[in-house]
Amino acid sequence: MVAIRVSLPVPLRRGFDYEYERPLAPGVRVRVPWGRRVLTGFVIEVPADPVPGVARRAILEVIDDEPLLSAAQLQLLYFAADYYHHPLGEVLFAALPAGLKRGRGVAAPQVYVLTPEGQAAADTRFARAKRQAALWQAIKAAGVMTEAALKALGPGFGPAMRALLAQGLVERRDPERESPRALSPSAVTLRPDQQAACKAVAEAYGRFAAFLVFGVTGSGKTEVYLELLAQVLAAGGQALVLVPEIGLTPQIVARLSARLGTFIGVLHSGCTATERARVWSAAAAGHIRVVVGTRSAVFVPLKHPALIIVDEEHDASFKQQEGFRYHARDLAVWRAKQLGIPIVLGSATPSLESYRHACQGRYRLLTLPDRGPHSALPAVRLIDLGREPLRAGLSVSLIEALRGCLSRGEQALLFLNRRGYAPVLFCPECRWHAPCDRCDARLTVHLGRQRLRCHHCGREQPVPQACPQCGHLRLLHVGEGTERIEEALRRILPGARIARVDRDTTASRLSFETLLQKVHGREIDVLIGTQMLAKGHDFPHVTLVGVIAADQGLHGSDFRADEQLFAQIVQVAGRAGRAAKPGEVLIQTYHPAHPLWEPLTRLDYGAFAEMALKDRRDTLFPPYAYCALLRAEARDPESATRFLEAARELAKGPPDVALGCVLPAVLARRAGYHRAQLLATSLNRAALQGWLKVWLPRLAKTPLASRVRWSLDVDPYSLF
Ligand SMILES: [Zn+2]
Ligand SMILES: [Zn+2]
Repeated sequence: MVAIRVSLPVPLRRGFDYEYERPLAPGVRVRVPWGRRVLTGFVIEVPADPVPGVARRAILEVIDDEPLLSAAQLQLLYFAADYYHHPLGEVLFAALPAGLKRGRGVAAPQVYVLTPEGQAAADTRFARAKRQAALWQAIKAAGVMTEAALKALGPGFGPAMRALLAQGLVERRDPERESPRALSPSAVTLRPDQQAACKAVAEAYGRFAAFLVFGVTGSGKTEVYLELLAQVLAAGGQALVLVPEIGLTPQIVARLSARLGTFIGVLHSGCTATERARVWSAAAAGHIRVVVGTRSAVFVPLKHPALIIVDEEHDASFKQQEGFRYHARDLAVWRAKQLGIPIVLGSATPSLESYRHACQGRYRLLTLPDRGPHSALPAVRLIDLGREPLRAGLSVSLIEALRGCLSRGEQALLFLNRRGYAPVLFCPECRWHAPCDRCDARLTVHLGRQRLRCHHCGREQPVPQACPQCGHLRLLHVGEGTERIEEALRRILPGARIARVDRDTTASRLSFETLLQKVHGREIDVLIGTQMLAKGHDFPHVTLVGVIAADQGLHGSDFRADEQLFAQIVQVAGRAGRAAKPGEVLIQTYHPAHPLWEPLTRLDYGAFAEMALKDRRDTLFPPYAYCALLRAEARDPESATRFLEAARELAKGPPDVALGCVLPAVLARRAGYHRAQLLATSLNRAALQGWLKVWLPRLAKTPLASRVRWSLDVDPYSLF
C-alpha cells in the first residue's frame, strides 16, 4: 500500500494522507472517508514523508483515469493558494466548475440554433405565441442559445422551445462537432493605431509579454481583440477572454461568434453547473477554441493556450470579495507568464496598478487615441448645486438640457452612480431615520413594493404609516433614488417616454435586453439608471448624459474611491454621442472646486493618473505599497476587536511591514455582526508575503481565532 496525500475542500491549511494499492498522479480525483462523511478530493502528491504513527484510511474510489487538473493547472492553483493564503483544498474546488466537484463524465454542451426554415421565418408567424417569438428573436440575434440561457428565462420557456423544435424552426446542436465556419472578413478596416496595436501583440506570440491597450470609450478596443483572436484561431491556438460580470452580454458573444466563425464557450455565474462543466472539459480537450468568461474563467484549462485578453481590466468584479479572495486579472498575468503567451489588458480607465506597470515599461502601453472619424468626445460641464435650486434632485440647468434634448428628438440618460443615494425614510418632527436593526445602516425606501429594504443584509419590512419614535404621521423620503427621479421626471416632462434600469426593474436578463432594444428602436426618450447602464452598451442616439449625484466619490472613505468615480464617469460619458452627433455630459456637484473635476471634465486619464498616483505614493497605498487586510466579525461587540488586538500583539515589530491600528469597519455592524479590521502594509511584496506565512499559523492558534469569523484579504480591493 502507498501513502497518498489528498487535498479536501475543508478550511484547513494542509493535506491528508490516505492509502491506495498503487501511486496516483497529482490532479486525479478520489473519494475518501472524512469523519463519517465521504468527500471528493484531489491527489496532490505521493508524500516522501507520510505523517508517521497515524493509521491511514483507505481511498474508497479513484474517479479519474487521467488527472483532471494538468500539471500547469495545479501549479497555478498552488501559487494562488500560497499567495492569497487560502486553504489549498478550497482553492482547488473554487477553481473547479460545480458540475465536476462530484460526478464522473461530462457530455458536450448542447446549444440551440435556428434551422434554415427558422432563419427564413417571418415574425408574424408568432403573433399568438409571445414566448416563442421572444426565443426566436433571441436566437436570431445571438446566433445560438445555450441550455443555461434558456433555463434562466423561466419555466414557461421550456415548452416554447419544444414547440419551436417540433415546428422544425430550431435544432439542437453539439458545438464540439460543429465544424468551424469560415472566418468572416472584418466589416471595418482597422485604423493605423489599431493596426499598430495588433502588430505589437502579434510579434509576441509564443512568449510572455503583457500589453495594456489604453483606448478611450468608442476607440475600438473590441476590433483589436477580434483581429487578435482571428489570428490565434488561424494558427490553431486557443484564447481566453475575461470580461466583467456586467459586460458579458449576448451581443458580445454573438459578435465574437459571427466574426470568428467558431463556437464560443461562455462561462458566467448564470450558467448551470452542467454547462460550466461541459465548457470546461471541452476547453481542456481543445474542442472549444475561444472561452469568454467572468472572474472564475481564469482557471479554465486550455490545451493549446495562445492568448489571454482581460477586457475592462480595472473592473472591480475581477476581485473575488469573499472566501478565496483572488484577483482574476492578476492571476491571468501570472498564468500568461507561466504558459509563455502574451496577455492583453484593455481599458479606457486602466487601474493605477496596470498603468504604473506600463509607465515603468513592465507592460507595453498601446494607445488608441482616436474615436474614429465620426464621433468626438462629449463635452463635460459641471453644474454647481450651491447656486441652483433642486427639484427632486434635478437642477434647473439639467432640466433645461433635458427639454432641449427631447425637443431635438434625441435621447438622454440620467445616471445615479451609487445605490446609497436611494431614498431613506425620515421624520421631520423628531429626526428619526428608519434604521436597519442588524446593521449600522439606514433602510432604503422601495416605493414600487411599499417596502423598506437594507442594502447590506437584505432585511425587508413594510413602510410604517407613522413615526415609530414620536407617532408623527407625515414621514418624508429624503435622498434621490432612481424611483423618485423617475416619478419627478414624469411630472416635469409630461409626454416623455421614460424608463428606469436598476436591479428592481431588470431582475431578468430578458427584460433588460427588451429594454435595450426599445432604446435602440427610439421608443424611449429618457433612460434613468445605475451602473448597469455605464458599461458596454452602445446608445447611438443618446446625446445628453446627466450625472445626478457624483459627490460621494469625492469623499469616499476608501483609497480607490476617486479611481472608481473617474472610471464610472468616463464610462457613462462614453455613452454620449457615439454616432455622428456630439454629446454633452452634465455633472451635478456641491463641490465644483474639487481637484478631481479638473481632469474629469477634460476626460483626461493621464492627468488624473498623475494626480492619483502622487496621492497613493503620499498615503502609501497600492501600487506603491502592498496591503493585506485582516477582517474579523463577531456577534458580541468586543470579540472581533480583541482578536485583532491579539493578532497585532503577535506580530510585534515585523521588519518591513507596518501594521495599522485595529479599526471598526466602515459599516461597523452588518447583519448582527460587529466588524473590525487590521491593515498590514509593506513596500516590499516578498517581505509582506514572508511575514504573513509566519503570522497566520500563529494567529490560527490563538484562543479567540475559533470564536470569531476572520479572513485575510491579500491585495484588498477596498478597505470596506
Ligand atoms: Zn441590514
Ligand atoms: Zn418622529
